[in-house]
Amino acid sequence: MARVLIVEDEARIASFLVKGLRSHGFASEVAGTAEEGLARALGGDFAIVILDIGLPDRDGFWLLSELRRHDQALPVVILTARGTVADTVAGFEGGANDYMTKPFKFEELLARIRARLHDSRRASKEPLLEVAGTTLDLRSRSVTVGGREVELSAREFALAELFFRHPGHVLSRAQILNDVWGYDFDPGSNVVDVYVGYLRKKLGAGAITAVRRMGYRLEKSGW
Ligand code: CA
Repeated sequence: MARVLIVEDEARIASFLVKGLRSHGFASEVAGTAEEGLARALGGDFAIVILDIGLPDRDGFWLLSELRRHDQALPVVILTARGTVADTVAGFEGGANDYMTKPFKFEELLARIRARLHDSRRASKEPLLEVAGTTLDLRSRSVTVGGREVELSAREFALAELFFRHPGHVLSRAQILNDVWGYDFDPGSNVVDVYVGYLRKKLGAGAITAVRRMGYRLEKSGW
């Protein structure tokens, strides 16, 4: 059974989550502070973390950054009242796998937890994706370009993963936004173009081709 770590200081919300998860077959434990949450998350006993940002000692972004220094793989779903675009972006940039704002519907949170658990099981089954001599290791979340390890941010990695799962296919901006950002971004936003630019710098200028009025394609060879 997948165990869930809930880092949440509001007892009412924590107990609502514990009960809801239990009725869907998940065992969970609650940590009420960031320090305790980090220690438990690093203990290795959990399949996923639900993380509040406003905590009494330090905030959830601190926990996330400390966790990601040691563990790139444990899925983290942020659940917070802080819903500005800056917060959401900070969460994803910090390595969160999903972001939900309070008030929230339990069924939606459950669906997201299941999806993130599914992603991480898939990643542990197929740990390596390789295109044109560049390798993405989904377990360690590292990238090797021509034998040299290149650092990607969490968001860049997610974008690279999407391209590497569909080499040679044109992906639309809307599809990329939906898959990589996973929430409603202003469709006029240029965030996809900006991040494709970052990836080209790191993978090689010829890796990703812009296809006019359609989107972007990861080339299968010849970078
Ligand atoms: Ca809180």
